[in-house]
Amino acid sequence: MYNFKDSDWSNEYKLSSKQFVCWNCNNQVASDKGYGDPSHSSKRIYLCPHCNAPNIFDHNGKSPLSNLPGKEIKKLPLDVLNIYDEIRKCIQTQSFTAAVMLMRKIIMNMAVVEGADKNQNFSYYIDYLCSQGIVHKKSKNKAQSVRQLGNDANHEIENRTQEDAQNCFEFIELLLIANYEFAD
Ligand SMILES: [Zn+2]
Repeated sequence: MYNFKDSDWSNEYKLSSKQFVCWNCNNQVASDKGYGDPSHSSKRIYLCPHCNAPNIFDHNGKSPLSNLPGKEIKKLPLDVLNIYDEIRKCIQTQSFTAAVMLMRKIIMNMAVVEGADKNQNFSYYIDYLCSQGIVHKKSKNKAQSVRQLGNDANHEIENRTQEDAQNCFEFIELLLIANYEFAD
């Protein structure tokens, strides 16, 4: 989380109140403080009442940053934590192809740490995680839908959609929670 709290913004205006999920603190908030033009445009910078971060909206009310997906997971090894955080930021900034590439990497790394052979294809690693019970049997359908994100050759770059990324992210989040946060 970024720190906007230690000092106050100055000369902010009172705006019409708006509800949103703050990109920085992830709280559902309502704010009527910030900056904007006095016309009816939606173009505004609202200050989060919780963490003071500026939340930017364009003329159509669209924001360049969505809220950070997923939850903080306890007990992740540092290198997994760094990649997991980066995946969340990729989805937050609508960089879905990059998010999917990193998620594939995290799945393959996990499988190798759990004893799978190196230099195999993505499908092999999904099968490995399922057959070893690292993917819970009730999450196997989810695993099958994630498998199709691994069929392209390494030198090809495919565009991934928000749906691809979100689907894969739900799977990763469950996998990490079950295998790190709730592990013995
Ligand atoms: Zn906030």
